[in-house]
Amino acid sequence: MTSILPTYGPRPVTFVSGRGTRLVGADGAEYLDCVGGIATVALGHCHPAPIEAFARQAATLGHVSNLYGTQPAVDLADRLLAVAGFGEGGVFLCNSGAEANEAAIKLARRHGRGIADDKVEVVALERAFHGRTLGALAATWARAKKDPFEPLPPGFRHVPPNDGAALAAAVSPRTAAILIEPIQGEGGVWPIDPGYLTLARELADRSGALLIFDEVQTGIGRTGAWFRFQDVGVTPDGLCLAKGLGSGLPIGALVTRSQVGGFIPGDHGTTFGGSPPIAAGALAVLDTIEREGLIENVRLVGSELAAALREVPGVSGVRGAGLLLGVELERAGAAAVATRLLHGQRVIVNAVTPTALRICPPLVFSRADGRVLVDALTEELVSA
Ligand SMILES: *Cc1c(COP(=O)(O)O)cnc(C)c1O
Repeated sequence: MTSILPTYGPRPVTFVSGRGTRLVGADGAEYLDCVGGIATVALGHCHPAPIEAFARQAATLGHVSNLYGTQPAVDLADRLLAVAGFGEGGVFLCNSGAEANEAAIKLARRHGRGIADDKVEVVALERAFHGRTLGALAATWARAKKDPFEPLPPGFRHVPPNDGAALAAAVSPRTAAILIEPIQGEGGVWPIDPGYLTLARELADRSGALLIFDEVQTGIGRTGAWFRFQDVGVTPDGLCLAKGLGSGLPIGALVTRSQVGGFIPGDHGTTFGGSPPIAAGALAVLDTIEREGLIENVRLVGSELAAALREVPGVSGVRGAGLLLGVELERAGAAAVATRLLHGQRVIVNAVTPTALRICPPLVFSRADGRVLVDALTEELVSA
């Protein structure tokens, strides 16, 4: 695949089809998918509901731009506000997680500037991942992802997660937003303490800043609730979504709790965001999660799976929630373990750090799927 620019390493497998939690490689072999397109294919591969909704809409009205009105975008926005419990809020539809965060950063600056000229700072967390565009990258922590692309937009600072004193010291009248993933996904599946999120809420209120939760990875049922914030009981002003929302269709969204921020026409835009077929597909995803009881499935299967993984020899700990789990290994070499599971056991997992595997399968993942994963990992770690 030399025609693809090498922003990723060599691909170990080429996939040709998928169904539910299974993928089929070009060699005809079947794999159990515990990555789900990186916490994205919520309904499982090739679920008919969003495909049919997309196809029906695409055959009726495809794209007209955001200069004109279309109904699926409005229906999706209403639905997102309803599941978030953000009655008076608003939604900006876009195409990816990075774009949802860009919209949130711009909203925060629009909001801050309405109060004071220098109220533009974003406080983010060490280990954070918010995306690859320049603004989202500035909010991201890992130096290796950022250094080659300096200069990045200024006005971002990072504090250690779960250190309340450090957060309190960083938030000032210049803070426009506190930006947090309630479970840090790409950083290694690190849950943020509910008490720390409560403090962030208080500090945001006190300083007149917005509290933004990047739930691009944790949202849409992944952690056993529609959104992680609902389980921890801390309501943000802005919620960034993407991955699971389209179950594979490219979509992102910024969802606001009220009409905060004060965007005015011309402030922000997107050619493709909220296009009718994608919005119709995402709406079908939300309907299906509800109809098939997938959030209950995530809670049940996720907690059993976490308990079983904890018992695997060679596993030193399991963190996360629902079907977003980080499996810490006693010995480094997570990437090698993932490679051997892929080729030897035909089980797909992601090495999220040198010592941890990330398990983030489709939300339809079953108990039987969980047993296949646990048996494969046991065999792999015991024989290694
Ligand atoms: C994946 C991810 C992003 C970036 O999403 P893209 O669609 O790749 O731009 C941002 N934030 C979090 C928390 C993510 O997991």
